[in-house]
Amino acid sequence: MNPTNKTIVIMGPTGSGKSKLSIDLTSRFFTNSEIINSDKIQLYNGLNITTNKITLQDQLGVTHHLLGSINSSSSVTPFEFRSLASRFISNITSRKKLPFIVGGSNSLIYALLSKKFNPNSNIFHDPKPDTISPNLQYNCCFIYVHVELPILNQYLKKRVDEMLDSGMLQELENFYESGAIDSVSRTGLRQAIGIPELEKYIKYTKCTDFDKDAAKTMYDDAIKEIKENTCQLAKRQVEKIQRLREIGWDLQKIDATEVFTASLNGERVGEIWERDVVEPSVKIVKRFLEE
Ligand code: ATP
Repeated sequence: MNPTNKTIVIMGPTGSGKSKLSIDLTSRFFTNSEIINSDKIQLYNGLNITTNKITLQDQLGVTHHLLGSINSSSSVTPFEFRSLASRFISNITSRKKLPFIVGGSNSLIYALLSKKFNPNSNIFHDPKPDTISPNLQYNCCFIYVHVELPILNQYLKKRVDEMLDSGMLQELENFYESGAIDSVSRTGLRQAIGIPELEKYIKYTKCTDFDKDAAKTMYDDAIKEIKENTCQLAKRQVEKIQRLREIGWDLQKIDATEVFTASLNGERVGEIWERDVVEPSVKIVKRFLEE
């Protein structure tokens, strides 16, 4: 099925639905596939709620690689990711299966896919994009899940509240208590949004006789900051995707904005998701596989 090093890449900012789309595609249409995670924080084990890892249940039996498989005390560079993920691509391809690269870290995606990767230069900061080669080491089909930022931001703020309802604070408290935070510098998993923002609150509430009102203010400030930082992350990710387009990567844009608008209005989204996101993506991948 995959004699020509074909690889599918699902890109997009945080919260845009990349994981859901990848499961819809691989569990229903391209069942001979495996997923390689390209979210730099989800590489590590731990903090599953805080980092928004897809649950085992939602994976629907599709094999995932580099998702929570790296020890949380280590830190993977883009260069190391290139080598790790390349090995998975070769292995998946050698078993005649189709690799899907799924995740929002564009620096990892660039490191993995570019033909010649120079770990000492950063294409996202280089002012001259025309000096960078768009050549790829695989035959890639890029799907970029787009959501208009004002709509995505509304959703992201709501998602933070949902993550808190699911136990994010408890997860972070346990993480602090385990000593993981003070032991090493803020690299790898320790860069996750939520860790620095909630640090002050978590430390303060560990004191005996803390002031409840002061703690509430700290908590509210931290949550506001998490929401702002998540929206900033999405904005930066979109800018990086734009950069990859500028250097010549052929990203096919799928607009999921209507799905998010409907969801924010409390409407059912299943049919819109199928119509606007799944169906066009299936067409793109099928066409690519037939080339
Ligand atoms: P950069 O060069 O800015 O690190 P990147 O493309 O390598 O960009 P991004 O995925 O944009 O990586 O992540 C940037 C930062 O956003 C991370 O260092 C982390 O602080 C935060 N972040 C990204 N993904 C997650 C996640 N799943 N959970 C929590 N925080 C995240």
